[in-house]
Amino acid sequence: MSEVKKLKNYINGEWVDSHASHFENVVNPTTKEVIAAVPLSPKEDVALAAAAAEAAFAAWKNVAVPRRARILFNYQQLLMKNKEELARLITLENGKNLKESLGEVQRGIENVEFAAGAPTLMMGDSLSSIATDVEAVNYRYPVGIVGGIAPFNFPMMVPCWMFPMAIALGNTFILKPSEKTPLLTQKLVELFTEAGLPKGVLNVVYGAHDVVNGMLEHPRIKAISFVGSKPVGEYVYKKGSENLKRVQALTGAKNHTIVLNDANLDETITNVISAAFGSAGERCMACSVVTVEEGIADEFVKQLKERSMGLKIGNGLEDGVFLGPVIREENLKRTHRYIELGIAEGAELVCDGRTNAPEQGYFVGPTIFDHVTTDMTIWKDEIFAPVLSIIRVKNLEEGVRVANQSEFANGACLFTNNASAIRYFRENIDAGMLGINLGVPAPMAFFPFSGWKSSFYGTLHANGKDSVDFYTRKKVVTARYPKPSFD
Ligand code: NAD
Repeated sequence: MSEVKKLKNYINGEWVDSHASHFENVVNPTTKEVIAAVPLSPKEDVALAAAAAEAAFAAWKNVAVPRRARILFNYQQLLMKNKEELARLITLENGKNLKESLGEVQRGIENVEFAAGAPTLMMGDSLSSIATDVEAVNYRYPVGIVGGIAPFNFPMMVPCWMFPMAIALGNTFILKPSEKTPLLTQKLVELFTEAGLPKGVLNVVYGAHDVVNGMLEHPRIKAISFVGSKPVGEYVYKKGSENLKRVQALTGAKNHTIVLNDANLDETITNVISAAFGSAGERCMACSVVTVEEGIADEFVKQLKERSMGLKIGNGLEDGVFLGPVIREENLKRTHRYIELGIAEGAELVCDGRTNAPEQGYFVGPTIFDHVTTDMTIWKDEIFAPVLSIIRVKNLEEGVRVANQSEFANGACLFTNNASAIRYFRENIDAGMLGINLGVPAPMAFFPFSGWKSSFYGTLHANGKDSVDFYTRKKVVTARYPKPSFD
């Protein structure tokens, strides 16, 4: 048997051995095959990356902004050229189907395109006359070294929320990808280097909590962008803030979709299936609860069940496969436990993902619970798997009330043709990203990814103008120009 490839860290423009004494297997969740071993790097490796990033920052911050942007343009071209290979890597290590992986690559590229606008985005503002002969100019500067901590579910898109913009604005970066999906990062780094990125500007340290703690404790790392689960995000936010860093932490979700009696049933079900079971439910924007008006509920559940049972489950590289595996065996077992809990709590199991899934990988089939109530754990917890809860409600007002009881508030959707209902929903729902007659309202790169409540900790969100503010600090120059004398 050939030896499994051991991944290396990327520090100061070189792939270098980690000082790790432990490695974790990277497993293809579709086949359970071990495809690499990822080092669980110690804090020492973070310090090495920080030293490289600090040295690089001295030069990178002074590279003219349009020149930095040109490297981003090159990067965009290379990413486009390698789209298929990038997507295949995502499917290999994450399990989502190839079409979804291609979609993820596209979303990542859009972030690079947005970051290439750095010369415009980084402009400050000015007022030529704030008092007699006095002007004020506000300049933007990079913050320094930034640390990025990513989850397993979007190995391309989420890191691309972070490092392209941070780097385009003149910062240097240390990325810690998820130890469960670390492979794609190598390709992202190779292509950025080929695009002309100088050494030390982007560094990668593989690992888990030691790397995160190394970043949170390192005095030269000035900002941390985190995306992952709520408990870890809370910890990162608290510890990072305590150590006087600026922190943004995008965390868990339990997204509600409200379906009213007048909704187009066929289109609504297409959207709900895609949002609930796409990427095996492992999306922070997944639809995990449908609150449906009573008048349409029976028909909705009947058709949803029929169509969900027909979804093709299997290897995402094969044509027509819709549903891939969850990421690891522990996620599979956890999902089974939630299904058992849902039954024990009295919900009606309409579609059982334990029985309709292939056995060779970590597969869970589409699972639907009807007659769920807000006191049930399956309604409260983020399950992060293809498990959908249905709550029947009298009207929109009750649907909004139900959704607003959740501790999470990432996304929420409404299916209706009624303009007044849409306005009521927009004004009253607690969620940062809303969808009207569509299932996954993930904003594009130029808008903020704007979760509320326990779905986000911080002030400035990822993406959009918020990301420009997050990755820059300001200097305001107030200057008096005495009147010249011309004699
Ligand atoms: P996770 O919290 O387990 O891991 C995220 C990162 O934190 C990883 O890099 C991991 O190595 C690190 N980490 C894990 N445990 C740690 C610990 N004890 N101490 C320090 N670091 C630790 O999340 P995940 O399972 O990789 O991803 C799924 C979660 O991410 C879900 O909750 C999902 O909703 C969330 N997510 C949120 C968004 C968003 O925009 N809000 C986007 C994608 C994913």
